[in-house]
Amino acid sequence: MISAILVLTASACKKGKDAPPPEEAPVNTIITPGNEPGYVYIDGKYSGYKSNGQVKLPAGRHNIGVALENSWIYLRKEVDVTAGAAITFTAADKPAPKVWKALYVGLSETRGNSATGDCSTHFTKAELDAGYEFLQWSLREHFEKYSYGLMQWQLERKDIAEPVMLKKSGEAWYTVEPPVITAKIPEIVPGAYDCVFVFWRESEGTCSFRSNYFGLAWTNPMGEPIKTGFVTVKFDAGNGVAGRIANYKANDPGVWVHEWLHTTGERFYQDKGISMPQPAGGFTVHAAETYGYTYPWMTWYRDMMGGRVPNTLTGLGYLGIGPEAFLRCTVRETALDAACR
Ligand SMILES: [Zn+2]
Repeated sequence: MISAILVLTASACKKGKDAPPPEEAPVNTIITPGNEPGYVYIDGKYSGYKSNGQVKLPAGRHNIGVALENSWIYLRKEVDVTAGAAITFTAADKPAPKVWKALYVGLSETRGNSATGDCSTHFTKAELDAGYEFLQWSLREHFEKYSYGLMQWQLERKDIAEPVMLKKSGEAWYTVEPPVITAKIPEIVPGAYDCVFVFWRESEGTCSFRSNYFGLAWTNPMGEPIKTGFVTVKFDAGNGVAGRIANYKANDPGVWVHEWLHTTGERFYQDKGISMPQPAGGFTVHAAETYGYTYPWMTWYRDMMGGRVPNTLTGLGYLGIGPEAFLRCTVRETALDAACR
């Protein structure tokens, strides 16, 4: 492993409005493996500094972390900080990831009362395989990456072959509700999974369950009987599931991480005392534009998870889950022990 000392200059990468350190103050040097740049965290909060800029750390004992920009790895250590001192991180400073458990549920037949009467939509085994692969891809490319390697997702799969009944609300609002899934998969109990992801088909021929959403999430897992995140993706298969998924991957890949963030970013982490962005239209996950982010929102999801959303409403500090929160209790662990923080 190659380590290099970064000579720190006054070119700190700063997004917040907090004042830069005084010119005469001795700055600290952050040394990372391979000289890789990273975002510096002080006691779990993003400092606004990158490791290849000027880093002024508070004196005394602190938990200093660095989220490496390219390898998506978080390194942390307890350090007695003194003015001007260098802090060297090695690969040994990478904490063990927390295991998160996902359950993918593919629906072979989804039944409901459509505008043309009772009918069903269907997915073949191959189409359900494609949905499973899409989720698995997102777990690697978004969930695990944006946690800087602090989440390690284990994915199980239990498809449902029998028809699953939709709930119809109003004129055209079709939903797969948790009780119809847990009735068929009794293994979904508090503590078993962190999140359940249901994949079902929106329309087929004249049978349509179109509603004004793509994915849907239940936003307060601890308030549900299963104490588990619950997400459904209502897939518009169009001219073919594989082609549609390829198109989403290339242009708008965030559906799974968006919905999962609803399960953890609306109540779960707030209840653990984490400072999250202010909701827009009732939902934190929908506040991207308020904070200046743009479609397809992937940098928003990254910064929400990295705790690096600049608090533009107050001009002070940064918001979001952050690496240290990912080292705390998962949904599954909190379900079994409410005192588990
Ligand atoms: Zn949403």
